[in-house]
Amino acid sequence: MRVRDGLVAEVGPGLRADGDAVLDVAGKLVLPGLIDLHAHCFVGSSDFGPRTDDIARSTGVTTWVDGGSTGAGTFEGMREWVLSRSRVRMLAFLNISAIGLMFLKIGELNHLAYADVDAAIGAGRDHRDLILGIKVRSQLEVVGDAGLEPLRRAVRAADALGGRVMVHCTNPPVPLDEILALLRPGDIVSHFLHGRGHGILDDRGQVRREVRQARERGVVFDVAHGRMHVKFPIARAAIAQGFYPDTISSDLTSGGAAGCVKDLPTTMAKFLNLGMPLADVVRSVTANPAKAIGRAGQLGTLKRGAVADVAVFTLEPGEFDFEDAHGERMTGRQRFTPLLTLRAGEVWWRRA
Ligand SMILES: [Zn+2]
Repeated sequence: MRVRDGLVAEVGPGLRADGDAVLDVAGKLVLPGLIDLHAHCFVGSSDFGPRTDDIARSTGVTTWVDGGSTGAGTFEGMREWVLSRSRVRMLAFLNISAIGLMFLKIGELNHLAYADVDAAIGAGRDHRDLILGIKVRSQLEVVGDAGLEPLRRAVRAADALGGRVMVHCTNPPVPLDEILALLRPGDIVSHFLHGRGHGILDDRGQVRREVRQARERGVVFDVAHGRMHVKFPIARAAIAQGFYPDTISSDLTSGGAAGCVKDLPTTMAKFLNLGMPLADVVRSVTANPAKAIGRAGQLGTLKRGAVADVAVFTLEPGEFDFEDAHGERMTGRQRFTPLLTLRAGEVWWRRA
């Protein structure tokens, strides 16, 4: 692969150096820069932000999508202090709650009026270069008696913006099917492998028909691991039945980085060790999330003309300990060890 002006200029065997600097990555896993479809980034404004660039560059992540840390009343600050100062490419889902995820002890939808559709549409239009759609947490403890109303408002705002809805569905206030019924093609179900409340499996442990039907009409099923949202037995059952995640994301927070999530390559390794084929794991952090954010063919690819965001890993054999969000442990035989990250054609990080 040859890189020129930050873009992939040539790909294929037999390329000659022609005076260019050469990075030898023979025998390594050379991937498009990873896209983390759901992570958090607002350092210091909630318990929600790891330091994006430090983590991104040393884990091969070149596109980082914030999963609704801020809403119409707080987005501007995150833009000013984080998004516009990061070298990792940053995009975001705007929380339907105007206050975003500023103080989780009192949830962002504790007062339903925070779910202000007009304010969300206004912010979405003001920041259309960065905002991809609307995030909503449809969790019983968050929405209380409001049921599906916050999700309905999120869909209205996203409709007006021509954007997507990203819905958090751990311990939903209604059966998952009622949430799926409101989603449009391209909308994203976050945390679909959670182990709390109504989920994707029926009483016999089978992926339910309504879930498969939602995928068939274009709803995206995203891992969004986080501190509370992946249960290995559910992931194992889904994978055994061929229901792989469309996208693998970390839902990284500072707590998650210090805890069971660690980072995106660790999350990928969990799915590899749970039986998901390598090619599907790779697609779920490159081409699939690129499509999910409307950047298919531009990001998550190394074809000629694409941005030269590149992540190089070794697939390291050994015995590695992984933990899900319920404290269950698993020994895996492989993990992704980051070696080198290029951002727009420049070496951003390399393992010492
Ligand atoms: Zn999240």
